Amino acid sequence: MASELYPYPAELDSDDEGSIEYDWENDSQIDDDGLSFDMDRLQIRGGSAVPGTPLSGTPPPRATRPPNNTTAHLCAPPKPLCVACKARSVYKNYVTCSLACIEKLCKDGPVDTTMCTYCHRRTKITGKDQCGETCAENAKIACLLCKVRPRNRRYHLCGKTCKSIATKSTPLILEIPKGHMTYDMVETKFKKGWSAPATRGPQPTISKIYKIIENDEFLRPYELYRQRVGPKESYSCGLCNILKTSFNVDVAKGNGAFGKAIYTSTASNKAFSFCGAAGAMLLTKVVLGKVKQVNGWNEVMSCPPGFDSVVFDRKFGTHNLNETIVYSNDAIRPVFLIIFQ
Ligand SMILES: [Zn+2]
Ligand SMILES: [Zn+2]
Ligand SMILES: [Zn+2]
Ligand SMILES: [Zn+2]
Repeated sequence: MASELYPYPAELDSDDEGSIEYDWENDSQIDDDGLSFDMDRLQIRGGSAVPGTPLSGTPPPRATRPPNNTTAHLCAPPKPLCVACKARSVYKNYVTCSLACIEKLCKDGPVDTTMCTYCHRRTKITGKDQCGETCAENAKIACLLCKVRPRNRRYHLCGKTCKSIATKSTPLILEIPKGHMTYDMVETKFKKGWSAPATRGPQPTISKIYKIIENDEFLRPYELYRQRVGPKESYSCGLCNILKTSFNVDVAKGNGAFGKAIYTSTASNKAFSFCGAAGAMLLTKVVLGKVKQVNGWNEVMSCPPGFDSVVFDRKFGTHNLNETIVYSNDAIRPVFLIIFQ
Protein backbone atom coordinates (compact mmCIF):
# COMPACT_ATOMS: atom_id res chain seq x y z
CA MET A 1 0.00 0.00 0.00
CA ALA A 2 1.32 3.35 -0.97
CA SER A 3 -0.07 4.91 2.16
CA GLU A 4 1.97 2.54 4.31
CA LEU A 5 5.08 2.92 2.24
CA TYR A 6 4.84 6.67 2.26
CA PRO A 7 3.14 7.71 5.44
CA TYR A 8 2.15 11.32 5.52
CA PRO A 9 4.05 13.07 8.28
CA ALA A 10 1.74 15.05 10.50
CA GLU A 11 4.45 17.62 11.16
CA LEU A 12 4.32 18.82 7.59
CA ASP A 13 0.58 19.10 7.79
CA SER A 14 1.08 22.07 10.05
CA ASP A 15 2.10 24.04 6.99
CA ASP A 16 -1.16 25.81 6.81
CA GLU A 17 -0.70 29.50 7.32
CA GLY A 18 -2.44 31.00 4.40
CA SER A 19 -3.95 27.67 3.63
CA ILE A 20 -7.61 27.48 2.89
CA GLU A 21 -7.67 24.43 5.12
CA TYR A 22 -6.93 26.39 8.23
CA ASP A 23 -10.03 27.16 10.16
CA TRP A 24 -9.04 30.48 11.64
CA GLU A 25 -12.59 31.06 12.73
CA ASN A 26 -11.90 28.54 15.45
CA ASP A 27 -8.80 30.35 16.54
CA SER A 28 -8.59 29.57 20.21
CA GLN A 29 -6.75 32.76 20.98
CA ILE A 30 -9.79 34.95 20.81
CA ASP A 31 -7.93 37.72 22.54
CA ASP A 32 -6.20 38.28 19.24
CA ASP A 33 -9.47 39.43 17.78
CA GLY A 34 -9.98 41.81 20.62
CA LEU A 35 -6.45 43.03 20.10
CA SER A 36 -6.97 43.71 16.42
CA PHE A 37 -10.21 45.49 17.09
CA ASP A 38 -8.98 47.57 20.00
CA MET A 39 -5.76 48.45 18.32
CA ASP A 40 -7.39 49.51 15.09
CA ARG A 41 -9.53 51.79 17.16
CA LEU A 42 -6.62 53.04 19.19
CA GLN A 43 -4.52 53.70 16.16
CA ILE A 44 -7.11 55.99 14.69
CA ARG A 45 -7.47 57.82 17.96
CA GLY A 46 -3.81 57.59 18.73
CA GLY A 47 -2.74 59.46 15.63
CA SER A 48 -2.32 62.63 17.59
CA ALA A 49 -0.96 60.96 20.68
CA VAL A 50 2.17 62.47 22.12
CA PRO A 51 4.96 59.89 22.42
CA GLY A 52 5.01 58.57 25.92
CA THR A 53 1.32 59.16 26.48
CA PRO A 54 -0.43 55.90 27.31
CA LEU A 55 -3.07 55.25 24.68
CA SER A 56 -5.49 53.64 27.05
CA GLY A 57 -7.13 56.56 28.78
CA THR A 58 -8.22 55.50 32.22
CA PRO A 59 -6.26 52.80 34.01
CA PRO A 60 -8.11 49.53 34.67
CA PRO A 61 -9.70 49.13 38.08
CA ARG A 62 -7.31 48.01 40.79
CA ALA A 63 -9.01 44.67 41.28
CA THR A 64 -7.99 43.48 37.81
CA ARG A 65 -4.31 44.06 38.49
CA PRO A 66 -2.23 41.15 39.69
CA PRO A 67 -1.22 41.46 43.33
CA ASN A 68 2.23 42.90 43.67
CA ASN A 69 3.99 41.40 46.64
CA THR A 70 7.40 42.79 45.99
CA THR A 71 6.55 46.46 46.35
CA ALA A 72 4.72 47.94 49.23
CA HIS A 73 3.45 51.12 47.67
CA LEU A 74 -0.03 51.38 46.27
CA CYS A 75 0.41 52.83 42.82
CA ALA A 76 0.96 50.47 39.91
CA PRO A 77 4.39 50.34 38.29
CA PRO A 78 4.48 52.25 35.01
CA LYS A 79 3.69 50.13 31.97
CA PRO A 80 6.78 49.21 29.99
CA LEU A 81 7.45 50.88 26.68
CA CYS A 82 6.56 49.22 23.40
CA VAL A 83 9.58 47.22 22.20
CA ALA A 84 9.15 48.33 18.60
CA CYS A 85 8.79 52.11 18.93
CA LYS A 86 10.14 52.73 22.45
CA ALA A 87 7.81 55.70 22.57
CA ARG A 88 4.39 54.57 23.80
CA SER A 89 3.37 52.21 26.59
CA VAL A 90 2.46 48.64 25.71
CA TYR A 91 -1.12 47.61 25.10
CA LYS A 92 -2.48 45.34 27.86
CA ASN A 93 0.14 42.66 28.49
CA TYR A 94 1.56 42.72 24.97
CA VAL A 95 5.06 43.87 24.18
CA THR A 96 3.93 46.42 21.61
CA CYS A 97 1.60 49.41 21.68
CA SER A 98 -0.33 48.98 18.46
CA LEU A 99 -0.93 46.84 15.40
CA ALA A 100 1.50 48.96 13.46
CA CYS A 101 4.17 48.20 16.04
CA ILE A 102 3.48 44.44 16.04
CA GLU A 103 4.04 44.60 12.31
CA LYS A 104 7.22 46.58 12.84
CA LEU A 105 8.41 44.02 15.40
CA CYS A 106 7.70 41.17 12.98
CA LYS A 107 9.57 42.86 10.15
CA ASP A 108 12.47 44.62 11.85
CA GLY A 109 12.76 42.85 15.18
CA PRO A 110 13.04 44.64 18.53
CA VAL A 111 14.83 47.98 18.89
CA ASP A 112 16.90 46.78 21.84
CA THR A 113 18.65 43.55 20.88
CA THR A 114 20.15 43.07 24.33
CA MET A 115 16.73 42.08 25.67
CA CYS A 116 15.27 38.56 25.87
CA THR A 117 13.73 37.66 22.49
CA TYR A 118 10.62 36.23 24.14
CA CYS A 119 9.57 38.51 27.00
CA HIS A 120 11.55 41.63 26.00
CA ARG A 121 11.47 42.59 29.69
CA ARG A 122 14.77 41.25 30.98
CA THR A 123 18.22 41.20 29.44
CA LYS A 124 19.55 38.12 27.70
CA ILE A 125 21.78 35.74 29.56
CA THR A 126 25.29 35.99 28.06
CA GLY A 127 25.54 33.69 25.06
CA LYS A 128 21.80 33.04 25.02
CA ASP A 129 18.83 34.71 23.33
CA GLN A 130 16.54 34.57 26.33
CA CYS A 131 16.59 35.80 29.92
CA GLY A 132 16.24 32.41 31.57
CA GLU A 133 14.83 28.90 31.50
CA THR A 134 11.16 29.88 31.31
CA CYS A 135 11.58 32.16 28.31
CA ALA A 136 13.96 29.66 26.66
CA GLU A 137 11.26 26.99 26.94
CA ASN A 138 8.59 29.37 25.65
CA ALA A 139 10.80 30.39 22.73
CA LYS A 140 10.96 26.77 21.57
CA ILE A 141 7.25 26.82 20.80
CA ALA A 142 6.91 30.49 19.92
CA CYS A 143 5.16 31.90 16.86
CA LEU A 144 7.71 31.99 14.04
CA LEU A 145 6.75 35.52 13.06
CA CYS A 146 6.44 37.66 16.20
CA LYS A 147 8.39 35.22 18.42
CA VAL A 148 6.73 36.65 21.54
CA ARG A 149 3.63 34.50 21.85
CA PRO A 150 3.03 30.75 21.82
CA ARG A 151 2.20 29.35 18.43
CA ASN A 152 -1.42 28.39 17.92
CA ARG A 153 -1.74 24.66 18.45
CA ARG A 154 0.07 22.81 15.66
CA TYR A 155 0.38 25.87 13.45
CA HIS A 156 3.45 27.99 13.01
CA LEU A 157 1.97 31.35 13.93
CA CYS A 158 0.20 32.57 17.04
CA GLY A 159 -3.05 33.86 15.68
CA LYS A 160 -4.97 36.05 13.29
CA THR A 161 -2.85 39.13 13.75
CA CYS A 162 0.37 37.38 12.77
CA LYS A 163 -1.38 35.47 10.02
CA SER A 164 -2.63 38.66 8.42
CA ILE A 165 0.82 40.26 8.70
CA ALA A 166 2.42 37.19 7.14
CA THR A 167 -0.02 36.84 4.28
CA LYS A 168 0.46 40.49 3.35
CA SER A 169 3.96 39.72 2.13
CA THR A 170 3.76 36.17 0.82
CA PRO A 171 5.66 34.31 -0.42
CA LEU A 172 7.62 34.80 2.73
CA ILE A 173 10.46 32.91 4.30
CA LEU A 174 10.91 33.08 8.06
CA GLU A 175 14.16 32.03 9.63
CA ILE A 176 13.52 29.49 12.35
CA PRO A 177 15.71 30.11 15.39
CA LYS A 178 18.04 27.27 16.37
CA GLY A 179 16.57 25.45 19.33
CA HIS A 180 12.97 26.01 18.19
CA MET A 181 11.12 22.69 18.10
CA THR A 182 10.35 23.15 14.41
CA TYR A 183 14.06 23.59 13.66
CA ASP A 184 14.77 20.39 15.55
CA MET A 185 11.98 18.56 13.71
CA VAL A 186 13.33 19.50 10.27
CA GLU A 187 16.93 18.77 11.26
CA THR A 188 15.92 15.37 12.64
CA LYS A 189 14.05 14.58 9.42
CA PHE A 190 17.12 15.44 7.40
CA LYS A 191 19.46 13.37 9.59
CA LYS A 192 17.13 10.37 9.75
CA GLY A 193 16.66 10.50 6.00
CA TRP A 194 20.42 10.36 5.39
CA SER A 195 21.42 6.82 4.47
CA ALA A 196 24.59 7.29 2.43
CA PRO A 197 27.61 5.35 3.77
CA ALA A 198 30.43 7.39 5.29
CA THR A 199 32.63 6.53 2.31
CA ARG A 200 30.39 8.81 0.27
CA GLY A 201 31.42 11.78 2.37
CA PRO A 202 30.25 13.31 5.62
CA GLN A 203 26.69 14.31 6.28
CA PRO A 204 26.39 18.04 5.60
CA THR A 205 25.76 20.43 8.46
CA ILE A 206 22.64 22.56 8.30
CA SER A 207 23.29 26.24 8.88
CA LYS A 208 19.82 27.72 8.53
CA ILE A 209 16.24 26.55 8.24
CA TYR A 210 13.42 28.73 6.98
CA LYS A 211 9.68 28.26 7.04
CA ILE A 212 8.05 29.06 3.72
CA ILE A 213 4.73 30.83 3.95
CA GLU A 214 2.61 31.08 0.84
CA ASN A 215 -0.67 32.73 0.10
CA ASP A 216 -4.06 31.10 -0.42
CA GLU A 217 -3.99 31.54 -4.19
CA PHE A 218 -0.79 29.60 -4.33
CA LEU A 219 -1.96 26.81 -2.07
CA ARG A 220 -5.43 26.43 -3.51
CA PRO A 221 -4.44 24.42 -6.63
CA TYR A 222 -2.51 22.06 -4.33
CA GLU A 223 -5.47 21.60 -2.00
CA LEU A 224 -7.80 20.96 -4.93
CA TYR A 225 -5.35 18.49 -6.44
CA ARG A 226 -5.02 16.76 -3.09
CA GLN A 227 -8.77 16.42 -2.75
CA ARG A 228 -9.10 15.12 -6.30
CA VAL A 229 -6.22 12.66 -6.25
CA GLY A 230 -6.89 11.27 -2.83
CA PRO A 231 -5.48 11.03 0.62
CA LYS A 232 -2.39 8.97 -0.10
CA GLU A 233 0.41 11.40 0.45
CA SER A 234 4.04 11.60 1.12
CA TYR A 235 6.66 14.16 1.83
CA SER A 236 10.05 14.17 0.29
CA CYS A 237 13.12 16.34 0.10
CA GLY A 238 13.71 17.93 -3.22
CA LEU A 239 15.66 20.74 -4.75
CA CYS A 240 13.92 23.78 -6.07
CA ASN A 241 15.78 26.64 -7.64
CA ILE A 242 12.85 28.95 -8.23
CA LEU A 243 11.30 29.60 -4.89
CA LYS A 244 9.02 32.35 -6.08
CA THR A 245 7.25 30.24 -8.64
CA SER A 246 7.54 26.98 -6.76
CA PHE A 247 7.89 24.02 -9.04
CA ASN A 248 7.17 24.13 -12.70
CA VAL A 249 7.05 21.13 -14.95
CA ASP A 250 7.28 23.40 -17.97
CA VAL A 251 10.77 24.56 -17.06
CA ALA A 252 11.91 21.12 -15.89
CA LYS A 253 14.60 19.57 -18.01
CA GLY A 254 13.26 17.01 -20.42
CA ASN A 255 16.25 14.74 -19.94
CA GLY A 256 15.28 13.38 -16.55
CA ALA A 257 15.32 9.62 -16.10
CA PHE A 258 11.54 9.54 -16.11
CA GLY A 259 10.82 12.38 -18.49
CA LYS A 260 9.79 15.97 -17.95
CA ALA A 261 8.70 15.99 -14.33
CA ILE A 262 9.41 17.22 -10.83
CA TYR A 263 11.99 15.00 -9.16
CA THR A 264 12.13 14.66 -5.41
CA SER A 265 13.45 12.08 -2.99
CA THR A 266 12.50 10.76 0.41
CA ALA A 267 16.22 10.22 1.04
CA SER A 268 18.01 13.38 2.16
CA ASN A 269 21.31 12.10 0.74
CA LYS A 270 19.72 11.74 -2.69
CA ALA A 271 18.10 15.17 -2.48
CA PHE A 272 21.42 16.63 -1.36
CA SER A 273 23.12 15.08 -4.38
CA PHE A 274 20.74 17.13 -6.55
CA CYS A 275 21.58 20.42 -4.88
CA GLY A 276 25.08 20.19 -3.34
CA ALA A 277 26.47 22.07 -0.37
CA ALA A 278 26.11 25.46 -2.04
CA GLY A 279 22.51 24.80 -2.92
CA ALA A 280 19.30 25.00 -1.04
CA MET A 281 17.11 22.08 -0.22
CA LEU A 282 13.38 22.25 0.10
CA LEU A 283 11.41 20.02 2.36
CA THR A 284 8.20 19.71 0.41
CA LYS A 285 4.80 18.16 0.72
CA VAL A 286 3.86 16.02 -2.23
CA VAL A 287 0.58 14.45 -3.20
CA LEU A 288 1.46 11.08 -4.64
CA GLY A 289 -1.99 9.79 -5.47
CA LYS A 290 -1.79 6.44 -7.23
CA VAL A 291 1.86 5.42 -7.33
CA LYS A 292 3.49 3.55 -10.21
CA GLN A 293 6.46 1.61 -8.84
CA VAL A 294 9.27 1.25 -11.36
CA ASN A 295 12.47 -0.77 -11.23
CA GLY A 296 14.73 1.09 -13.60
CA TRP A 297 15.43 4.39 -15.29
CA ASN A 298 13.55 5.28 -18.44
CA GLU A 299 10.94 2.64 -17.65
CA VAL A 300 8.39 5.40 -18.08
CA MET A 301 9.01 8.78 -19.72
CA SER A 302 5.78 10.50 -18.79
CA CYS A 303 3.01 10.04 -16.26
CA PRO A 304 1.69 6.50 -16.85
CA PRO A 305 -2.05 6.38 -17.62
CA GLY A 306 -4.07 5.66 -14.50
CA PHE A 307 -1.30 6.84 -12.17
CA ASP A 308 -0.40 10.15 -10.56
CA SER A 309 3.23 9.61 -9.63
CA VAL A 310 6.23 7.36 -10.17
CA VAL A 311 8.46 5.95 -7.43
CA PHE A 312 11.81 4.32 -8.07
CA ASP A 313 12.93 2.79 -4.76
CA ARG A 314 16.56 2.36 -5.62
CA LYS A 315 18.46 0.84 -2.71
CA PHE A 316 21.93 -0.54 -2.10
CA GLY A 317 21.64 -2.25 1.24
CA THR A 318 20.59 0.53 3.56
CA HIS A 319 21.78 3.20 1.12
CA ASN A 320 18.54 4.72 -0.10
CA LEU A 321 18.48 6.56 -3.43
CA ASN A 322 14.71 6.86 -3.71
CA GLU A 323 13.33 8.95 -6.52
CA THR A 324 9.80 10.23 -6.25
CA ILE A 325 8.43 11.86 -9.37
CA VAL A 326 5.29 13.88 -9.97
CA TYR A 327 4.13 15.36 -13.25
CA SER A 328 1.87 18.15 -12.07
CA ASN A 329 2.81 21.49 -10.55
CA ASP A 330 -0.19 21.22 -8.27
CA ALA A 331 1.12 18.03 -6.64
CA ILE A 332 3.90 19.69 -4.72
CA ARG A 333 4.46 22.65 -2.42
CA PRO A 334 7.56 23.75 -0.51
CA VAL A 335 7.33 23.78 3.27
CA PHE A 336 10.83 24.38 4.62
CA LEU A 337 14.03 25.71 3.09
CA ILE A 338 17.33 24.27 4.30
CA ILE A 339 20.70 25.99 3.83
CA PHE A 340 23.99 24.20 4.52
CA GLN A 341 27.25 25.40 5.99
ZN1 LIG B 1 5.10 54.01 43.50
ZN1 LIG C 1 4.95 50.98 19.56
ZN1 LIG D 1 12.54 36.56 28.90
ZN1 LIG E 1 2.87 35.81 16.34
